[in-house]
Amino acid sequence: KAKGGGKNRCLEYNPKMRVGLVNVVAVEADLKRALDNGEFEAFFQPIVNLSDGRLYGFEVLARWNHPERGLVSPGEFIPVAEETGLIVPLGARILEDACETLNLWREEHPSVDELNIAVNISAKQFAEASLVHDVETILSRTGLPPGMLKLEITETVVMGDAVESTNRLNSLKSLGIKLAIDDFGTGYSSMSYLQKFPLDQLKVDLSFVRRMEESPENIEIVRAIINMAHSLRLRVVAEGIETERQRDLLYSLQCDYGQGYLYSKPLPKAEAVELLTILD
Ligand code: C2E
Ligand code: MG
Ligand code: MG
Ligand code: MG
Repeated sequence: KAKGGGKNRCLEYNPKMRVGLVNVVAVEADLKRALDNGEFEAFFQPIVNLSDGRLYGFEVLARWNHPERGLVSPGEFIPVAEETGLIVPLGARILEDACETLNLWREEHPSVDELNIAVNISAKQFAEASLVHDVETILSRTGLPPGMLKLEITETVVMGDAVESTNRLNSLKSLGIKLAIDDFGTGYSSMSYLQKFPLDQLKVDLSFVRRMEESPENIEIVRAIINMAHSLRLRVVAEGIETERQRDLLYSLQCDYGQGYLYSKPLPKAEAVELLTILD
């Protein structure tokens, strides 16, 4: 069986896929080297309270500081990391980096205790039996209070095997952390599971935010998502807010939190920490 190949791949018969595999193998080797070299870095994108624009927390987004290519976006390496299983050590590294950083910030800025960080968990990480233990270990090693950590799991992943997901989410929740559904609206959700899962937040996918300005119907879709989430006692975060009009619309729809280029792009630690002085 070809390394990193999924069970449905038939490499021998498809020349295009063979090229794809060569590329995956090359990137995989580069990713391994980069992990050893510590080239991955957590960036922090502010999430704000929509009512007053005050900082509510950060979403942690991985960046690859490549020696030749410069800053590489997750879109280019997360899929390969996911396919090769390297996402597990990489994800643990990012999670630890994030928890350690936030805990460090607490020492300088007491008001950081009111913030939280959201870390993305991919399909393979979520399926990994050791996830709950790994998160617990990182929390105790870094000293970050569990309530300050939120994990984001995409709708598609969490709805994949909903029974299995319920168990996994319950175990994670018992650590005292928060849980959010990411990219909501891009997959199919079972309402009964949305209700059964121990969730805290739902993130409206940026494609819905973008389309809001196109038609009143699209605004109604976002309104329906927000109202449904609230009736399930979930807080709502809108991602990808780029314009004031989008922000005003979301605020009028009673969306709780927002994130997007209107406020800030994802920032390296040194720049993110500057935002904290405003809190003091
Ligand atoms: P996501 O979790 O849905 O993250 C939101 C993405 O939207 C980020 O892209 C962010 O930079 C981008 N974004 C934020 N505001 C705006 C805006 O106003 N306009 C536009 N056009 N985009 C905006 P990014 O950083 O490229 O990450 C892409 C995806 O890669 C993430 O989507 C997440 O699924 C994955 N990812 C990133 N970091 C990690 C990680 O550490 N672990 C795992 N497992 N996945 C990660
Ligand atoms: Mg996310
Ligand atoms: Mg998202
Ligand atoms: Mg998204």
